[in-house]
Amino acid sequence: MSTCIRCNASFRCGMVDSTEEPCWCAALLRLPAEALPQPEQPGCLCPDCLRAWLGERDASS
Ligand SMILES: [Zn+2]
Repeated sequence: MSTCIRCNASFRCGMVDSTEEPCWCAALLRLPAEALPQPEQPGCLCPDCLRAWLGERDASS
């Protein structure tokens, strides 16, 4: 399991967990990794936070 860097929720990440499937974020996130918030921290956002963050990002651009 991975832990969300924003809300500390536990979620499954295909990049970190040993799974044959691509991570869900590959379908949701079409951004370079540098575009993520707090790129200096290792870790991912959970699906809820990633969607929320994408919404905020769209709203501010
Ligand atoms: Zn989260």
